[in-house]
Amino acid sequence: MLVVMEKAATDQMVAKVCVLIESMGLTAHPIAGAQRTVVGVTGNKSKVDADKIFAQPGVKDIMHVTPPFRLVSRDHKSEDTIININGVEIGGKDCVIMAGPCSVESREQCFTIAEHVARAGAKVFRGGAFKPRTSPYSFQGLGEDGLRILGEVKDKFGLLIATEALDTESLDVVARYADIIQIGARNMQNFSLLRKAGRTKKPVLLKRGMSATLEEFLMAAEYILAEDNPNVILCERGVRISADRTRNTLDLSAIPYVKRTSHLPIIADPSHGTGRKDYVLPLSRASIAVGADGLLVEVHHDPANALSDGAQAITPEMFDQLMDQVTSIAAILDRTC
Ligand code: PEP
Ligand code: MN
Repeated sequence: MLVVMEKAATDQMVAKVCVLIESMGLTAHPIAGAQRTVVGVTGNKSKVDADKIFAQPGVKDIMHVTPPFRLVSRDHKSEDTIININGVEIGGKDCVIMAGPCSVESREQCFTIAEHVARAGAKVFRGGAFKPRTSPYSFQGLGEDGLRILGEVKDKFGLLIATEALDTESLDVVARYADIIQIGARNMQNFSLLRKAGRTKKPVLLKRGMSATLEEFLMAAEYILAEDNPNVILCERGVRISADRTRNTLDLSAIPYVKRTSHLPIIADPSHGTGRKDYVLPLSRASIAVGADGLLVEVHHDPANALSDGAQAITPEMFDQLMDQVTSIAAILDRTC
């Protein structure tokens, strides 16, 4: 950590900051420059109370050299984490495509979509049985009946199941049916849910909050790893900026940042990331090109009558095209889909 002093800070102010740092069991290294003094801080094994130092007279700024996350960082583990679920490896050479409807609506709907996406090469079927909806009057999902349908999809089509746990109450039942427990954008900082999901030891698909910084995103993952569950798949699903043409803005640069900073796999969700079916293919191509370890895509055979997110659902035919295109792009990067 570096403590940057004001230009006008006196020698006494610098000395007082150094005494405070030493009183915390740390070592202060004042470096007098031509314009101002900076104080390097070393010896910190855990989080330093930077606010207390910042509150001292003469302190202009605090700069953190080491990021606050530990278990998720490449410093902690240099090799990529590869999560193996019944032979499907996430974070390895294969870009894993997860596809399915926004919501589980019926057995017939899920079977129709699952049959198609499985044939086209998807490895994971996605579909919400507990839905986070902006309005309490919108379709809230089929609950456990929906999970049972997902269980049938798994048996019949051999797809893994990713489905959302909306709260700590529904987590146990979701964990019984899901191969991958999804934590949605709205819950990225629901710390009790993160902890409980961590304790299941099941793979967790953690979506980035819609206004979360990347540091906050990785700190949320840290909660799951801190429960001794290393099986976290991060998901960039778009952030809110004042966009007028898209629902969210898919932050493509998050993907190389996370790959460099963390050993965890990261996939992209171009469906929520744009909110528009006509943008899903181009953003899928782009996501694979920037290094995503997979995609989470909403597919519906009848988008006009979908009970949620119809505007961003691609048809099975568009999904075929998507698979062809991302497979070609992955090959350039010596990857498969
Ligand atoms: C979803 O995947 O259906 C969903 C609700 O996503 P998000 O949490 O990213 O909005
Ligand atoms: Mn959705």
